[in-house]
Amino acid sequence: MRKEINVFTFKDLLEYYPLRHIDKTKIDPISSLHADTDFTQVAGKLIDMQLIGEKRSRRLIVHLQDNTGIVELVWFQGISWMEKILVVGHHYLAYGKPSFFMGKPQMAHPDIENHHSQNATGKSYLEPIYPSTEKLKSKGLNGKAFGKLTQELLKKITEKELPENLPEYIIEKYKLINRYDAIRQIHFPASLQYYQMAVRRLKFEELFMAQLSIQLIKLNRQHSSKGFVFEKVGTVFNDFYSKYLPFELTNAQKNVLKEIRKDVGSGKQMNRLLQGDVGSGKTMVALLSMLLATDNGFQSVLMAPTEILAQQHFQTIASLTKELSIRVEILTGSTKSKQRKVVLKGCEEGDVSILIGTHAVIEENVVFKNLGFAVVDEQHKFGVAQRAKIWKKSVFPPHILVMTATPIPRTLALTLYGDLDYSVIDELPPGRKPITTFHRNESARPKVMDFIKEELSLGRQAYVIYPLIEESSKLDYENLMKGYEEVKSFFPEPKFWISMVHGKQPADQKETNMQRFIKHDTQILVGTTVIEVGVNVPNASVMVIESAEKFGLSQLHQLRGRVGRGADKSYCILLTGQKLSKEAKERMNIMVETNDGFKIAEKDLEIRGPGEMEGTRQSGALLFKLANIVEDKNILEAARGSVLEILQNDVELSSEKNLPLKLYLQSQKVKTRWGKIA
Ligand code: ADP
Ligand code: MG
Repeated sequence: MRKEINVFTFKDLLEYYPLRHIDKTKIDPISSLHADTDFTQVAGKLIDMQLIGEKRSRRLIVHLQDNTGIVELVWFQGISWMEKILVVGHHYLAYGKPSFFMGKPQMAHPDIENHHSQNATGKSYLEPIYPSTEKLKSKGLNGKAFGKLTQELLKKITEKELPENLPEYIIEKYKLINRYDAIRQIHFPASLQYYQMAVRRLKFEELFMAQLSIQLIKLNRQHSSKGFVFEKVGTVFNDFYSKYLPFELTNAQKNVLKEIRKDVGSGKQMNRLLQGDVGSGKTMVALLSMLLATDNGFQSVLMAPTEILAQQHFQTIASLTKELSIRVEILTGSTKSKQRKVVLKGCEEGDVSILIGTHAVIEENVVFKNLGFAVVDEQHKFGVAQRAKIWKKSVFPPHILVMTATPIPRTLALTLYGDLDYSVIDELPPGRKPITTFHRNESARPKVMDFIKEELSLGRQAYVIYPLIEESSKLDYENLMKGYEEVKSFFPEPKFWISMVHGKQPADQKETNMQRFIKHDTQILVGTTVIEVGVNVPNASVMVIESAEKFGLSQLHQLRGRVGRGADKSYCILLTGQKLSKEAKERMNIMVETNDGFKIAEKDLEIRGPGEMEGTRQSGALLFKLANIVEDKNILEAARGSVLEILQNDVELSSEKNLPLKLYLQSQKVKTRWGKIA
């Protein structure tokens, strides 16, 4: 039991919540089952039992009959156990999800128990059904059996042993039921209404406690980590701002910059998450912040997730700052060893003002004289552990600005990055025309190619993107090559030139091909998602995405963001096969409907659920027992609001009324503000 479902203690068992309840008094006639029936309980006499098949296809089949019909019950696992306990001629209750085979109802692995007529007391009784595994079922611990264990345990447990952990005034304010009742009621509810009250209370508690620990971590860090003070705006920043800034900053950019300046002047270390849609101009905010660091005598580092992106940042920043007397260097996995030595020396001696690179910049051998500011671009590709490495590069941890590639929904940000401060660029630079997006069938490819031809004749460039090449996926690779040949047949040399970029190329080849497209030596770039993040070619006006159904929403949005960067009208064409899942269709529709990355992020979260969002899959932060940050958004906001309020008034949780929280945290070994966190 331990290994299978992580239930180790009595407390774990009490928090092993039922999946659903069935009304024991409700028994469906077998003849009423149909293809859409969800879970059902039927009762009848076991009329036969057979073991059929060999080895892996071995299964136990029995038939249960009531006076309306017959249902087949089948087991593929735990066969010998079932064979032992079932007796032909006896009456059973079977509970499960029916399916239909050749027009006949069937239930695979139902929960089954003896049916006595005294089961029917006439009183409605909600019996809990727990998640179980095949292995446990084969030991007799099916979805119902857990209920018996829990019931025994609940009989023995007193209210003292399940103390309230939320302050009384919070309970009153949000009209919650107390903890002891909630735990009893979630397992064995007196009514559906009680069940719902129990769920709401326990969800609130879960989200509340999660927010409390995030906020405590944040306070703790703010308290304990001193930061470098950037007190002045100096000549480097001012020179750049007045002479070389190629455009007027948007108000949103100005505001974020103000927030950052306030942080870095405060004496505390900054940890800020910068959200902004694709193309909203996050790089310039990063650059200006780094120049501020330079003016205050500190070095900066900018870390990007890919070689191409690092190169691009380097070129942009080096050329923007070429008239300033500061040294900007790049360090990636492909930096040659001679050059690497030069760069490393420059960093160590403090001569390099801004270092740009991939995760190579956080390796052990990179030593800074006085690193004061670090930018992590496109955060979701980096783990928290990598972020933490930067901290160790300096006496104090440097100020950290984390930038996201595409927006993250607010609820997700609060749960995942709740310990960071948060800025948003909610405005695109002026003059951008919205990108028009079409969804077309693959059979329309020739027309799409004609369309590209028109755009090229206006001097524009185009992308044609294929699904990611996995290390293992030969098929994707073949598709890309086929696609490349096809595009080539529409656009023959020497009238047209095509760059191809994909993950299997050596870095320098990838780089050369990319550069040819950037310099407009080639008109079309055929590639995979290696170009997904950050690539900036303002002259490109068409983005064709092949097999678009294979991409997630945030990826599609990222890819689409490669166009619409100049003042030209831009287009995104999503090509898909004829047969699409409902979800894929929904994704295409959303893309056609909106250009707003924040909206898309919300939709993405809704469709895929919190556990499946990019970069969050392994993150325990989203694994709640009951709560779901999409469905329980309101509870999350309420819980967070009350946490913030409580900590604002009583940061040490020392008042009498907050005692339950203090005791709870002590029992969880979470240290409050003055404790040191590891
Ligand atoms: P992202 O936020 O996606 O990283 P970038 O920083 O790459 O976006 O900026 C996208 C493009 O917009 C770049 O070409 C950049 O030079 C340009 N840009 C940024 N800020 C402004 C602005 N205030 N006015 C005009 N163009 C801007
Ligand atoms: Mg960017």
